[in-house]
Amino acid sequence: MLTLDQIAAQLQGYDPQALKAFEVNEFLSRMVIPVHETERVDIFEALGRVLAQDLISPLNVPPHDNSAMDGYAFTYGQARTNEPIVLKVVRTAFAGAPWKGSILPGECLKVMTGAVLTSGLDTVVPQELVEVETQNGNATITIPSGVVSLGDNRRLTGEDIKIGKAALQKGDRVTPAALGLIASLGLAEVTVWRRLRVAYFSTGDEILSLGAVPREGAVYDSNRYTVFGLLTRLGVEMIDMGVVRDNPATLEAAFLSAATQADAIITSGGVSVGEADHTKTMMRKLAGSAGGVAFWRIAMRPGRPMAVGRIAKQKADGGAKITNAAILFGLPGNPVAVMVTFLAFVRPALLKMMGCTAASPPYLRAKSVEPIRKKPGRTEYQRGVVTTAADGSLTVRITGDQGSGVLSSMVQANGLIVLHHDQASVAAGELVDVMMFSGAI
Ligand code: AMP
Ligand code: MG
Repeated sequence: MLTLDQIAAQLQGYDPQALKAFEVNEFLSRMVIPVHETERVDIFEALGRVLAQDLISPLNVPPHDNSAMDGYAFTYGQARTNEPIVLKVVRTAFAGAPWKGSILPGECLKVMTGAVLTSGLDTVVPQELVEVETQNGNATITIPSGVVSLGDNRRLTGEDIKIGKAALQKGDRVTPAALGLIASLGLAEVTVWRRLRVAYFSTGDEILSLGAVPREGAVYDSNRYTVFGLLTRLGVEMIDMGVVRDNPATLEAAFLSAATQADAIITSGGVSVGEADHTKTMMRKLAGSAGGVAFWRIAMRPGRPMAVGRIAKQKADGGAKITNAAILFGLPGNPVAVMVTFLAFVRPALLKMMGCTAASPPYLRAKSVEPIRKKPGRTEYQRGVVTTAADGSLTVRITGDQGSGVLSSMVQANGLIVLHHDQASVAAGELVDVMMFSGAI
């Protein structure tokens, strides 16, 4: 595992005082390592978990050729070009009740959706396309010429999943669709990586816990609740450590306890330039034996200051090793900056720690309804609402006050407009990238 200095040396032009947003992702992806313990979980516990093994299919899905429609199954070979086909209906086959008899030329089988297609029955004509005539209880169908081709409405054995093939891959996160796929293989359990454990606390002498009596100069803690919500969506195990005062001894105890219990620690506040230096000194001291801590100024808005590093887990003998450390994400204090740095940097890093290999979801492109002022040389994240215009195109507007402490404009947003490092001001009608919240928030 690399020390922070070694990672920094790998990144061209690394400047901790003016880090670009993509360099933060680059750095973090080299710093974190995925969990390695696995567990077997029941399918009902698997949603949102990350598979620790390829899921090899023990069977074909579907297990047999079957009909995709209610209609009539027949052997296509007997059809003649440009002539209607007339067939005698000999039986009805329902889903789940296969009929094993044979169908002769000139005959067909009435089938319901899902009914097994026995050998020779290679084509199904939907019932609404045929004319049915019944005489003395015997039905005959006439299929007009040109309405079906060979293989129509036949689902082939294994067309969804083939026996022996990986239906899902190691590193896939289990979605509702994946749950259905797992069940379709007849599997009631899967092997997943263990849940990531994340400890979090807010720092600041002015931060009030809920229930505390308001006092002058103090504000209620909002970050811990936002972080709780964001972590819940990720499906990690959480350790809520409350509000910690800006006091070296209290902070040190909180960091040590967090590092010992968790894989990652998320704090808010205490990393900005104006903060008392004792916090940083103390973080440095704790991180020292585990590979250090870096204090960054990121070329972004909101959310400029951030601390990252590794805090050693204390062993009984007092020793500490770099391989046995918790990852620290020291986020800024401003509530919107917390959310933006979490979404842009912490979330992808935590997903990697969870064993997830999927790429981040793509940005959406939407037309800005208004001009947006932007200075090249930093990445800006603006709270936006994307809507679909009457012509089907996507448009985005900014949700009012963009101050880094203004949560109400974050609440109204359904995504973050990402104005990239080198991008300049945006004109009305210009396309911009939007990181949508769906799923993450
Ligand atoms: P700091 O980064 O500690 O200097 O904090 C920056 C701003 O964010 C200050 O106005 C803090 O009062 C505010 N802030 C810090 N932590 C929280 C919190 N947990 N909840 C609400 N506001 C906070
Ligand atoms: Mg503070």
